[in-house]
Amino acid sequence: MKTLIPGERILFQVPMKEYTTFRVGGEAECLILIQKEEELEKLVPYLNRIEQEYFILGNGSNLLVGDKGYQGIVLKLDGGMEQISVDGTRITAKAGALLSRVALTARDHGLTGLEFAAGIPGSIGGGVVMNAGAYDGEMKQVVESVRVMDSEGRIATLDNDTMEFGYRTSIIRNRPFIVLEIVLRLAEGDREQINARMEELSQLRRSRQPLEYASAGSAFKRPEGYYAGKLIMDAGLRGFRIGGAQVSDKHCGFIINTGRATAADIREVIEEVQERVKERFHVSLEPEIVFLGDF
Ligand SMILES: Cc1cc2nc3c(=O)[nH]c(=O)nc-3n(C[C@H](O)[C@H](O)[C@H](O)COP(=O)(O)OP(=O)(O)OC[C@H]3O[C@@H](n4cnc5c(N)ncnc54)[C@H](O)[C@@H]3O)c2cc1C
Repeated sequence: MKTLIPGERILFQVPMKEYTTFRVGGEAECLILIQKEEELEKLVPYLNRIEQEYFILGNGSNLLVGDKGYQGIVLKLDGGMEQISVDGTRITAKAGALLSRVALTARDHGLTGLEFAAGIPGSIGGGVVMNAGAYDGEMKQVVESVRVMDSEGRIATLDNDTMEFGYRTSIIRNRPFIVLEIVLRLAEGDREQINARMEELSQLRRSRQPLEYASAGSAFKRPEGYYAGKLIMDAGLRGFRIGGAQVSDKHCGFIINTGRATAADIREVIEEVQERVKERFHVSLEPEIVFLGDF
């Protein structure tokens, strides 16, 4: 591998709690910092050829890594994979760019459409994969096209329809594609108004979400016709705790790490919540969080 990637960017036994917003998780056997598309073009087919398992990491804000870690290679988009450029009403961003930075770039250029995303702590690559959304906005509304790489290192451009965006999902969740670059199509707007809307949403987040604790945002998808947080609260689970993991008092849809949680604590809270909500309301809660590794 050292012939494909400089040795100093190949790290071993890497604590994943340093790479996830939950701040839990054991070690990844190996983590490679990717700075150029060309590196992936060589590395990905090689890993597939030797049947080596790998995982693409964005900003780790929707991810729970098990306490026993991950016996595989984590590919983390870094450095050169974070550029953003603007051309008229189009923004082109490399997949590793933070969604919040892309949203601020849009604001600075007087482009509207991405206000909803300013407070989502993921990378834009992760945001596209998950079709991240909030306050009536979602990535589907602003994505024009997505450049992806398949497991053979071949590059293709997928348009919005081909992305099969759905509620917190896209075609990438079921296919071994790596998102490399995204083109967003926004509209001209008023910089002051865009800024005011972002501040309003940020205020809403601060007042309603337990941002002072480590978490991965909403733990569950919204079941059709219900709100996960309300079902959890009505099941009497506000503040429900196992070890250091807790259903947030402030927003029952969030499971927080109160400081000393293990990944197993968090997973147990998730499972207990699912069981009790099912028992009480006959509704199945599906985790929004992605699970990785051994618990
Ligand atoms: C406080 C807080 C608030 C949040 N609020 C919201 C919200 O309002 N709305 C919302 O939708 N989400 C929210 N989230 C969840 C999370 O931020 C989003 O799901 C985000 O889009 C995940 O991006 P990420 O880069 O962190 O992805 P990661 O957690 O790193 O990865 C998530 C999945 O995407 C895959 N992936 C990531 N990058 C790529 C890539 N380049 N190519 C292929 N696959 C890739 C990973 O393999 C994994 O399967 C919140 C999280 C927190 C902690």
